Amino acid sequence: MKSTDATVAIIGAGLSGLYAAHQLHAAGVTVQILEARDRVGGRILSVDEKGRPSEDGFDLGASWIWPKMQPAIGALVDELGLSSFTQFSEGDVVFERFSREGPLRHAGPRQNPQSIRLVGGTSAIVRALMANLPEDCIRCEAHVTRMVLAEDGVRLIISLPGGREEEIHASQVITAVPPRLLEATVQFTPALEPSTADRWRSTPTWMAPMRSFSPSTIARSGARPGCRERRRAWLGP
Ligand SMILES: Cc1cc2nc3c(=O)[nH]c(=O)nc-3n(C[C@H](O)[C@H](O)[C@H](O)COP(=O)(O)OP(=O)(O)OC[C@H]3O[C@@H](n4cnc5c(N)ncnc54)[C@H](O)[C@@H]3O)c2cc1C
Repeated sequence: MKSTDATVAIIGAGLSGLYAAHQLHAAGVTVQILEARDRVGGRILSVDEKGRPSEDGFDLGASWIWPKMQPAIGALVDELGLSSFTQFSEGDVVFERFSREGPLRHAGPRQNPQSIRLVGGTSAIVRALMANLPEDCIRCEAHVTRMVLAEDGVRLIISLPGGREEEIHASQVITAVPPRLLEATVQFTPALEPSTADRWRSTPTWMAPMRSFSPSTIARSGARPGCRERRRAWLGP
């Protein structure tokens, strides 16, 4: 098994991991981000109409930012100089509840507080964070499976494509993964305290049950081109 060194290893290249790397890199700390998937962004993903990652696409994950409720993200958008626009929130809501009944239309509530969207999709924030990081600090398809506490830091065992394994030594580790996922999928040595494992298992993941659908589903449900209405559905593909 190959072994490499990192000062601070960050597990997960979603917004949390990338922001942690952004802060540490700005402070002169060497970081290594380990990401299980073949792409960065985690639950932030903007795609084109064919579902491919796009720089000007539809948001399939996080879409809205409420700067008044999420001042830290609002400040980061400003710091990174990202362009935003106000979410359209006028007109009717068209709601598809069941496949056996037609869409229902009702007057939509005005947004309060008002949300914003990022020009190019929410992935703009991911791209901007990446642009400030050294290229070689992110490893995709590197799934951390074990963390072993050692005298001089932490040994991380990562699983790579083709069943290969590699060991990384880090003086410190930041986990930027939903706690219940971490508890369920990563083995710790020494084992986690039962109270810690319980706490991680019972920590809800914000918006975990959410799914987004793409415009092809909207087209199927009969939206008119250029329509100024909001569409919601309990139906899925
Ligand atoms: C459909 C949907 C819509 C949403 N809409 C909004 C919204 O409008 N506004 C809003 O504020 N929030 C929204 N959210 C929530 C928002 O997307 C998340 O809160 C945010 O993206 C979480 O970022 P994160 O970095 O903490 O976690 P994640 O994005 O989950 O990143 C964790 C990363 O860790 C990786 N990982 C996991 N385990 C390992 C491992 N063992 N080894 C290596 N890597 C690992 C994962 O592959 C992932 O890339 C939405 C979520 C979803 C699913």
